[in-house]
Amino acid sequence: MLDIKPIFTENISEPLYIAGPCSAESREQLLATARGVAAAGVRILRAGVWKPRTKPGSFEGVGSEALAWLHEAKVEYGLNVITEVATPEHLEQALKAGMDGVWIGARTTTNPFAMQQIADALKGVDTAVIVKNPVIPDVELWVGAIERIYNSGIRRIAAVHRGFGTHQTLPYRNAPHWSVPIELHRRIPSLQILSDPSHIGGRRELIAQLSQQALDLGFAGVMIECHNCPDNALSDAAQQITPEMLGDILRTLKLRRTPAATDILGEYRMHIDTIDSRIIELLAERMTVAREIGEYKQQHGMAVVQHDRYNELLESAEARAEFMGLSRDFIHEIFSAVHEESVRQQLEIEKK
Ligand code: PEP
Ligand code: MN
Repeated sequence: MLDIKPIFTENISEPLYIAGPCSAESREQLLATARGVAAAGVRILRAGVWKPRTKPGSFEGVGSEALAWLHEAKVEYGLNVITEVATPEHLEQALKAGMDGVWIGARTTTNPFAMQQIADALKGVDTAVIVKNPVIPDVELWVGAIERIYNSGIRRIAAVHRGFGTHQTLPYRNAPHWSVPIELHRRIPSLQILSDPSHIGGRRELIAQLSQQALDLGFAGVMIECHNCPDNALSDAAQQITPEMLGDILRTLKLRRTPAATDILGEYRMHIDTIDSRIIELLAERMTVAREIGEYKQQHGMAVVQHDRYNELLESAEARAEFMGLSRDFIHEIFSAVHEESVRQQLEIEKK
């Protein structure tokens, strides 16, 4: 069993909040945001200095120069400051500049070679390390990255759930797959796991609900992207919120009783809640495809309801359900409702 310690505080009954800009862009931007983050009651400031961007030519961060601004924010507002590292060189510069901790980004966690290099560079160092989930929903890869850090001697470790890359049409930028962080919690109960609603949602309107969902599911806290002027942000503009919005969201979050490790019923309920979230996401995806089919049928002058197809679909769903130990009647009822909704959505297209 890994003996992991809280990253910054012994008072683990309070939720842990981390906030700050996706990227440190200028001294003014960073210090103004830091002031707002501190005023919102957050004690840990994040800012990316080296940014892993999907496409070349995007803003890749201002580099090590920005570490001095983070240090200034630490001194001025008494915050713990953290930044993302992806190589031993980044780590060395971050530690030299007085960072209180570092985070490993999703793309880096996915790569065991990069993780091992960072872990080797952490030997003999006392700092806090936050490991974001790998881009793919593979809990072993996430656990493996955390074990590499642990084996280097680091004990103050946390994890951040930022969703997983997906080709699905979801309202989110990254698919939450809540069961993956919940499995991580089961494997390493002493690990603080935070959620990152900014990278999961990709849109600022979703931050409040995703943060509440994370706390309801028993996460230790949230990491939220916050910028003094979000619309002008050089990276991830759509998902950043102002410090005022951050304060409002944190004030309205309801802290529910999180189940203790021994609360078996609580664990079961969290599992049920994640399955229900998946069912809703899948139904939403199914309706998106149904609407696409509706458009195709309309363009080709085809009728909305094709009875043969419906009967086949129902028969095969019932047979599969029976094989899985479910009753045919139950699945018949559910699929009739799902089909009825698909038809309703396709008829809406016809009307347009
Ligand atoms: C970030 O936190 O700004 C970031 C790059 O996150 P991720 O590694 O989760 O994409
Ligand atoms: Mn970002």
